Amino acid sequence: MKALVFRGPGKFEWVEKEKPTIQNPTDAIVRITKTTICGTDLHILGGDVPAVTDGRTLGHEGVGIVEEVGSGVSNFKPGDRVLISCVTSCGRCDYCKKAMYAHCEDGGWILGHLIDGTQAEYVRIPYADTSLYHIPPGTDEEALVMLSDIFPTSLEIGVINGEVQPGEVIAIVGAGPVGMASLLTAQLYSPAEIIMIDLDDNRLEMSRKFGATRTVNSSKGNAVEQVMELTDGKGVDVAIEAVGFPVTFDICQQILKPGGRLANVGVHGKPVELHLEQLWIRNVKITTGLVSTSTTPMLIKTVQSGKIKPQQLVTHRFPLDQIMQAYEVFRNAPKEKAMKVILYND
Ligand code: NAD
Ligand code: ZN
Ligand code: ZN
Repeated sequence: MKALVFRGPGKFEWVEKEKPTIQNPTDAIVRITKTTICGTDLHILGGDVPAVTDGRTLGHEGVGIVEEVGSGVSNFKPGDRVLISCVTSCGRCDYCKKAMYAHCEDGGWILGHLIDGTQAEYVRIPYADTSLYHIPPGTDEEALVMLSDIFPTSLEIGVINGEVQPGEVIAIVGAGPVGMASLLTAQLYSPAEIIMIDLDDNRLEMSRKFGATRTVNSSKGNAVEQVMELTDGKGVDVAIEAVGFPVTFDICQQILKPGGRLANVGVHGKPVELHLEQLWIRNVKITTGLVSTSTTPMLIKTVQSGKIKPQQLVTHRFPLDQIMQAYEVFRNAPKEKAMKVILYND
């Protein structure tokens, strides 16, 4: 089969690779029909994730059709259409019982990191019963493929950790796919205002179409001052950090009103400054974390009901065997006016 393989920092190849086989009774082999490129794949390619080694198949979002199951798999059979969680988990250990699947003591592997991922014709899914979800008939698979990672990430680590409440004022720093998914999932909780902050006017304009009520371009003046002006000097109830730089974490710390919550989603390659000397008096709460995908079943229902439409984020589509071109577009996303890039193997 063909797969996109990591070859060390800055290097990757679309190569012929052995098709995965069942290794444990709880495994399933899935034929990928749609996969994506995620911002984290670019972090891996840049060498920011040393755990990913030479030869690893990348990719952690995907939908497909079950090809084969091990003798211990009871919830799925060949021919089933499935959504793949970016995290595989045993479902039985202490962490899984707390729905902290990414910390599963027997699995908890993120696809495309410590085990082979979804940017391939086939993928092996360990613990298939607790790592796959049935696709309800008639549901748009382009919408569902982003429920493997960016939608649960945004909902769990951004919106739920941020405790978004009806009528509140929310700021989201970063209008990339994760920030946009935060924008769409935050609306499930009816905030009064959502202020989107980015450096790119096209992305900000797109965010208006997806429901942002205000936008701030942080390359055109001080972002903190602009947010304060928009909120009559009060600040925001929730600041979601969806970039991963010290400067954007700092913006979030400065725009919170008393009782505010800072929900950090961005993966930070460098230490950030924590301004406790300013934060304590405002009674703020700071959270961060790694996606568990425990909200995926709920998100499947919200997609089915039409309450959120993740497919709005798709700007580019490529056949899977043109994945190298797709990476070029995604790498230059703001210039290419790209948001989410989908790869087809239908
Ligand atoms: P992205 O790079 O596509 O988007 C980031 C956005 O931030 C871009 O639109 C960029 O213009 C904007 N930006 C950059 N500097 C800025 C600044 N100074 N002020 C305002 N905006 C600025 O990334 P993405 O794919 O949307 O992912 C966002 C982050 O979420 C990444 O760090 C990613 O690794 C992380 N992530 C975390 C988890 C988790 O489990 N916590 C899961 C998936 C992704
Ligand atoms: Zn991802
Ligand atoms: Zn477990």
